[in-house]
Amino acid sequence: MIRQKIVAGNWKMNGTKESIMTLVNGLLEMDGSDAEIVIAPSFPYLSQVNDLVDGSCLVLAAQNISDEVKGAYTGEVSASMLGDFGVKYVLIGHSERRSIYRETDDVIATKVKVALEFGLTPMLCIGETLEERESNQTLLVCERQIQAVIAEVGIKEFEKMVIAYEPVWAIGTGLSASAEQAQEVHCSIRAFLAKSSESVAQKVQILYGGSVKASTSSALFQMPDVDGALVGGASLDAKEFIEIVKTAS
Ligand code: PGA
Repeated sequence: MIRQKIVAGNWKMNGTKESIMTLVNGLLEMDGSDAEIVIAPSFPYLSQVNDLVDGSCLVLAAQNISDEVKGAYTGEVSASMLGDFGVKYVLIGHSERRSIYRETDDVIATKVKVALEFGLTPMLCIGETLEERESNQTLLVCERQIQAVIAEVGIKEFEKMVIAYEPVWAIGTGLSASAEQAQEVHCSIRAFLAKSSESVAQKVQILYGGSVKASTSSALFQMPDVDGALVGGASLDAKEFIEIVKTAS
């Protein structure tokens, strides 16, 4: 099965109006790619970026979403609001949300459900900590995180989702998993999904995230079960991000 690659940039809580304009203009100089190219600015910049990328190959993502639909939830941003600003993808369950903001598997599963109800494509982030890897719990953790979502929305909905495997120990540390380590986990995740549905398992794109750079992406993208990357730090540099995109074509 041929799965289109996705290269997504998670800008996290970075940028100003000016720096974002420069970054997007830099990215717009990119030649076309076989991969889908996604960028995830912070909420206040979605409108600005949506206008800037209009008519280009860049696709918009949000970094978070409320698990509620509307009403008295001060500070929250709903799925329909994101839709209003041209957002296609939404990161859900990023390890920074899980660890710093204490988002549980249940909350994350509800967010996935709400995103799907409003036609957004969840990028479900999963992954183990260093301690969990060292005690051989990598697959157990990934499977638990996925199972919570299957229990909420059912396996069929995974056809409308993307999974991002991001080992916590590799995020922002410069310690990327090797291409072989990533492949091993991606292959196991697919095998786990196949227990519920072989066709869904073959269809779902599984991205790798954690210190991806242009110097590491090419080996990662050659792995049969690595369908792209979720890039943090390196996505803030237009030249570096474009180099990563090139290795996905
Ligand atoms: P990093 O972040 O590329 O800076 O490690 C990846 C992520 O958190 O999505």
